[in-house]
Amino acid sequence: MTEFSLPRKGSDVIVDPFGRAVTYLRVSVTDRCDFRCTYCMGENMTFLPKADLLSLEELDRLCSAFVRRGVRKLRITGGEPLVRRDIMTLFRSLSRHLEAGALDELTVTTNGSQLARLAHELYDCGVRRINVSLDTLDAEKFRAITRWGSLDKVLAGIDAAQAAGLKVKINAVALKGFNEDELAAMIRWAHGRDMDITFIEVMPLGEIEGQRADQYLPLSEVRTRLAQEFTLEDIPYRTGGPARYVSAKETGGRIGFITPLTHNFCESCNRVRLTCTGTLFMCLGQEDAADLRKPLRASESDEVLMQAIDEAISRKPRGHDFVIDRRTRQPAVGRHMSVTGG
Ligand code: SAM
Ligand code: SF4
Repeated sequence: MTEFSLPRKGSDVIVDPFGRAVTYLRVSVTDRCDFRCTYCMGENMTFLPKADLLSLEELDRLCSAFVRRGVRKLRITGGEPLVRRDIMTLFRSLSRHLEAGALDELTVTTNGSQLARLAHELYDCGVRRINVSLDTLDAEKFRAITRWGSLDKVLAGIDAAQAAGLKVKINAVALKGFNEDELAAMIRWAHGRDMDITFIEVMPLGEIEGQRADQYLPLSEVRTRLAQEFTLEDIPYRTGGPARYVSAKETGGRIGFITPLTHNFCESCNRVRLTCTGTLFMCLGQEDAADLRKPLRASESDEVLMQAIDEAISRKPRGHDFVIDRRTRQPAVGRHMSVTGG
């Protein structure tokens, strides 16, 4: 692992051409997953050959370079990050940046399937908050949406996470005809367990079976319906991400809405995304990317890598242009969410 040094001050923090400081890095550590959620992946996915993946040491070196350039928040994601072999080695080594005060948060987005096994260790590595993706509380529907996942296992994982002291936020994709009737019950369940819940609009990423328009449920519609059951109040709470929060008076809990389609949130985007092969995507919804693997491997010093990072950020676009309608049959970008990291 490379030697760590404190972030350099002021102008060294990376700022993109639109004046947005890049302080948040999301890292997809694998494109593989133990589930095949129907809105995320096709049934028969071709995954990357394992030989193409960056090693955990290389991922650590890349993340550490970003931390030195002012990134304060790291989210490990995938695919399913917790199925990558020895993944806790990466958490363990990245935790040194928390201890040094160079990083505010090390966190993970997971489907929850491995949490019963790993929750304690995550906490031990300095992780304090995690996102667990869960789209339904009905075991049969859960099996259908994930194509073979076990709801019990995920619920046991959430239990273990809370018992370990991790703050859990639930992320649910709002899907037309699938969970729209269940969202109020999911709110009551989550808030009853002291968990925030955030709803996400389905995004047109990657080819899947079926049509996106059949899955797409605008959150503006969801909010209107929820307002019939709950007294919702806009609140200024932010977690550094694109979610806009409301509180529900009846439960006392928070509900987040991530609305890439009905409300474009790009103007405050502070993040970039790194794939498990070392490709940096400056925007989830655009094809442009920068290869950081080559500069990473070109030299043991980080100089070339730092130059490549600067050059990449100078190309960060203003925003995405997602569209979901019946005429637009192509996804906005060809890669799946599991490649770029959700
Ligand atoms: N496997 C982990 C999980 O499910 O939390 C991490 C990766 S997953 C790609 C991250 C998030 O992206 C999940 O909350 C998932 O529901 C969401 N997601 C996947 N495909 C999506 C799509 N096309 N539109 C919106 N959200 C999507
Ligand atoms: Fe796997 Fe997460 Fe995609 Fe579901 S959403 S298939 S759990 S990567």
